Amino acid sequence: MKDIVMTAQTTLANLDLTEAELTGGTLKVTSPIDGGLLAEVHETPVSEIEAIFARSKAAFQAWRTVPAPRRGELIRLLGEELREAKDDLGALVSWEAGKITSEGLGEVQEMIDICDFAVGLSRQLYGLTIASERPGHRMMETWHPAGPVGVISAFNFPVAVWSWNAALALVCGDTVIWKPSEKTPLTAMACQKIFERALARFGDAPEGLLQTLIGGAALGEALVASEDVPVVSATGSTRMGRAVAPIVAQRFGKCILELGGNNAMIVGPSADLEMAVRAIVFSAVGTAGQRCTTLRRLIVHNSIREELVSRLKKAYSGLPIGNPLAEGTLIGPLVDEASGAAMTAALKAAEAEGGTVFGGNRVTENVPAGVYMEPAIVEMPGQSDVVKTETFAPILYVMGYDDFDDAIAIQNDVPQGLSSCVFTLNMREAEQFLTAAGSDCGIANVNIGPSGAEIGGAFGGEKETGGGRESGSDAWKAYMRRQTNTVNYSAELPLAQGVKFDI
Ligand code: NAD
Repeated sequence: MKDIVMTAQTTLANLDLTEAELTGGTLKVTSPIDGGLLAEVHETPVSEIEAIFARSKAAFQAWRTVPAPRRGELIRLLGEELREAKDDLGALVSWEAGKITSEGLGEVQEMIDICDFAVGLSRQLYGLTIASERPGHRMMETWHPAGPVGVISAFNFPVAVWSWNAALALVCGDTVIWKPSEKTPLTAMACQKIFERALARFGDAPEGLLQTLIGGAALGEALVASEDVPVVSATGSTRMGRAVAPIVAQRFGKCILELGGNNAMIVGPSADLEMAVRAIVFSAVGTAGQRCTTLRRLIVHNSIREELVSRLKKAYSGLPIGNPLAEGTLIGPLVDEASGAAMTAALKAAEAEGGTVFGGNRVTENVPAGVYMEPAIVEMPGQSDVVKTETFAPILYVMGYDDFDDAIAIQNDVPQGLSSCVFTLNMREAEQFLTAAGSDCGIANVNIGPSGAEIGGAFGGEKETGGGRESGSDAWKAYMRRQTNTVNYSAELPLAQGVKFDI
């Protein structure tokens, strides 16, 4: 795979990453494509972290007073730079995270989209005016920048998750300290460079608006513990969220948690099976099952179960697995050996719990030296322990149902609550799925798979997924502090609730 690494190095150079930055460091970056060494980058010394926080705090003092539409101009420029760098950054996502080319490019497109959204938002950080009960008084609600925002991100969306947070936070008047996954530091370093190109064109921004911490969880832990960081947006496993949340709560900071998912599709007897099969295959095997919104549970009406499973097995049998950079590949590698081992262990556990496994073997022929796995379909007698656990790999558990209420109960009976969907042409089922008694997830779709969200909606989930919301809708409010203002323009001083306190 020498050629691929060579081309990766051309891309790294195009993204302004220098030889000095890519060699001689302690953090080895390997490509999931073939395990080849891409770089040895320099980790941020823990001794520097306090200075980084101080710089972010100082930058915040200046940035918070810059008019929001002017802050939006910086994000507009960032969007332009991302358009310029799209091919290189998309390719680097493929090398570092193992995504197929179109998904790497799609991730950068998502960054561009959120920049566009944030530019519009910069003129729409709306507050309310509220009717006051007191004569000659005006009440309103205003939104102010919160302070430095800590962004912790996972390997599987190495750049988009940062942009969801950073574009909004910067428009909201905050500064950003980013701790990317230690598995994907190169894409983070490239984003910092792209951001610097935008800054250079922007002109007079304070120094330290965006700083990146390169290294392992210890840097994330320092970020989480810092009193200088009032908002922590953490994306990753539920295990990580469980460690982060109490520390931030202890110091009364705010957390935006985007954690693990265990997403389901209910397929009703009236469903358009042709559409369902396409949606299932994309959602279950896309990104090799390494999306937080990956379809992991299929809850199918018993009357169509056999037919649907047989169609799926047929579709799975022809899926091109291999080098994600090669044209036509749909399934690339898992991120590392540990992920492959976790997949194999989950399939063993599923068998022990009564499951019948189709696929799931390691592919070694005609693929580079990474961890390439056949996606698996596992027919389960019920929702056992392994089905309730998120295994970050392409495993689709199939369970049957007879009654729609039972299907919803099965869908909701897991600890996670990120994304869900129903395939049905029965409008009663479709509407019921979206009610208070329907799906308990942050995302609930009809006749669309659970993955591949647009940036315009708020993204996130309930229960062990953490409850945070990022990206569109009013997710921006989490990056600001709310203030209620009452202005008395009368010559009297009436008290609320008719209280008398005359002196
Ligand atoms: P991970 O939890 O191993 O790591 C995520 C990040 O957290 C990394 O940057 C890591 O260094 C950091 N980290 C780990 N422990 C920490 C600690 N104690 N304090 C501070 N930082 C710490 O996750 P991963 O393997 O990179 O990503 C896969 C997981 O992320 C899956 O569970 C997936 O569902 C989840 N995910 C969720 C979303 C979402 O929006 N809900 C999006 C992407 C990924």
